[in-house]
Amino acid sequence: MSNSQPYVALMGNPNSGKTAIFNLLTGLNQKVSNYPGITVEQRLGTADLSEGKTTQILDLPGTYSLTPESLDEKIVASQVVEWMQGKNKPAAIISVVDAANLSRNLYLTTQLLDLNIPVILALNMMDRVKKRKQEIDLENLKSMLGVTAVIPMSAKQHWGIEALQESLREVSAKNSHSSKTPLQLYIPEKIENILEPISKFFEEYIAYPPNLAKTQALRIITRKSALEVYEPHLSPSRIEQLIALRDEAVEHIDASAVNHRILEARLRYELIDRELQSYHLEKVENPHIESRSEKVDKILTHRIWGPLIFIGLLYGIFQSIFTWASLPMDWIDLGIGLVGDAVITAMPPGIFRDLIVEGVVAGVGSILIFLPQILILMFFMTLLEDSGYMARVAFMMDAVMSKVGLHGKSVLPLMSGYACAIPGIMATRTIDNWKERLITILILPLMSCSARLPVYTLMIGAFIPQKTIGGIFNLQGIIMVCMYFLGTITALIIAAVISRFIENRGKSSFVMELPPYRIPLATSLFRQLFIRGKLFVVNAGKIIMAISIVLWFLASFPKMEDQSSLHIQDSYAGKIGQFIEPAIAPLGFDWKIGIGLITSFAAREVVVSTLATLYNVENEGDDVLGITQALKRDIDPVSGKPRYTPLVALSIMVFYVYAAQCMATFAIVRNETNSWKWPLFMMIYMTALAYFGSLLVYQGGQIMGLS
Ligand code: GDP
Ligand code: MG
Repeated sequence: MSNSQPYVALMGNPNSGKTAIFNLLTGLNQKVSNYPGITVEQRLGTADLSEGKTTQILDLPGTYSLTPESLDEKIVASQVVEWMQGKNKPAAIISVVDAANLSRNLYLTTQLLDLNIPVILALNMMDRVKKRKQEIDLENLKSMLGVTAVIPMSAKQHWGIEALQESLREVSAKNSHSSKTPLQLYIPEKIENILEPISKFFEEYIAYPPNLAKTQALRIITRKSALEVYEPHLSPSRIEQLIALRDEAVEHIDASAVNHRILEARLRYELIDRELQSYHLEKVENPHIESRSEKVDKILTHRIWGPLIFIGLLYGIFQSIFTWASLPMDWIDLGIGLVGDAVITAMPPGIFRDLIVEGVVAGVGSILIFLPQILILMFFMTLLEDSGYMARVAFMMDAVMSKVGLHGKSVLPLMSGYACAIPGIMATRTIDNWKERLITILILPLMSCSARLPVYTLMIGAFIPQKTIGGIFNLQGIIMVCMYFLGTITALIIAAVISRFIENRGKSSFVMELPPYRIPLATSLFRQLFIRGKLFVVNAGKIIMAISIVLWFLASFPKMEDQSSLHIQDSYAGKIGQFIEPAIAPLGFDWKIGIGLITSFAAREVVVSTLATLYNVENEGDDVLGITQALKRDIDPVSGKPRYTPLVALSIMVFYVYAAQCMATFAIVRNETNSWKWPLFMMIYMTALAYFGSLLVYQGGQIMGLS
């Protein structure tokens, strides 16, 4: 966080309702940004506390523990270490817990209590506790933990939020008093002695108070990754020293017949269970409610029904993306046309007007047009994620996907790639592990998106004969399926290859237990959609606009004397087309296709209209029909043979399967990976695939005597 205003941090397990509470507190008054250098979202908002008071709220990523396992947990653990150095320390922490799973959720809370920061316990999901006819003794819970306040609430039913605001007011007025000192972790003397050198180290070099030094020592014993978060704060030689101290302590711990990896967990759970029991805080859980999720799971994660239901759901989702999106997409198209017309009437003719209409409006339009598809897909993704179903899908698919370096959660984003890579790439945010997420992003554009469809349709319709094979299979249909198949198989192979070269940051954990099924909150869902949509339009829009202007410039300059007809071959784009002709001739392409390849960067389907323009097809009636004829009639003046043959068509299609030709995708990959390195890498490897794929097809085909 860059600003130094006082703020309150929201912390809790994934799915405990942090975001729901954040939304209730801040309304639309929130900013989403990425943590510097990485792609995890940071949400900061201003909460209205009424009585004229406000406070900043920071929604931290979900964590089960301050011991860093996932990328999210690493971020949180690093932030906590910074706080402990006095940097950007929050005025208070709201520890959000799922009251229906109290003991498991309190694990993190007890870790937060060590930090000497006031903790407000938001006992969320009380609606579920009530439904189970359970009770929680709030007063006892408060004094047992020694927290500033315990606020029973339900973000779903919107109650308890006023009480939370009130205790936030008290905290910010600094007149809150904890009834007791915070609950301390009890560490047996034998273990405390083993930890001693590390605790002393922390007291000396990190300036931790003794109690914090002890628990932090315990944590780095448990996981080596917990030590990495100290790297920015210590010199390399001190780090060496700490590692040596740790290794020695681990040896001692293991020798005393305790597994060091579960040491902190064991001590904390012992503490929590003992305290909860002695205060009689939790009544026995009603077994009926638990078994409902289990019953549903018997079907939804069934060996055979599970995948079938998943495929059915996917089919339904894609069906609706195509059908529901087409109408709003038409409206947006119409709207962009109207804006363009308005600019044309409002501005005097000239280069500047052309730039606005053809560069800016058309360029930004080309990305706005994806918005309906993105929102619909995001809607379903959020629904599946929040309801708890996505965790099951990930669970079912994980074994298969991890063979190629992906995660079970990669499946849905990859499938979305068939509609459009952009929402698919945005949907990879559900993948916690950075490496698995990155690989998913990098291969996603190989899934044939709907923008390739016009290219396939044009080439297949014009050059692949309408034959039936084996009595039932239509040759045109087979070729179409082959194109989709080619992209998908290649994607999986590439994933397997690059996963060997990308370094893993944080390990992928499937320790995640399956969350219970829940009905998602409508308000939370729609707010999420709104924020995502805004993020997409603003961030990707900026990059698109810049690239559109460059493309427009290349296609429109130098200006010719004769403005009446379009001489695209004289433009810079045309020059580039002719310039690259020798390079693409071995693929069977001429300079006109070359221009198409360049203009395709705006959007793949643009190649169709580019070719249409090049062949001076009048834009009356059916564009595709007109260009089909024009392509068939194009004769190579040198050889006297048709320029386009089925082999050239096949070569073009293979090129489009592989080529990285969508600047909107680059913009979004740049955004999601926070660097130009990955979109560049993607462009290079995909272009190489496209080039050599087409070369193989065309040259191989010629050798085999095809044409
Ligand atoms: P986060 O991962 O901690 O940010 O959790 P979210 O705010 O995304 O909530 C996770 C799920 O729990 C969503 O489906 C919410 O709709 C649901 N949820 C949030 N608060 C409550 C609540 O008080 N009661 C119930 N029953 N569900 C809730
Ligand atoms: Mg959240």
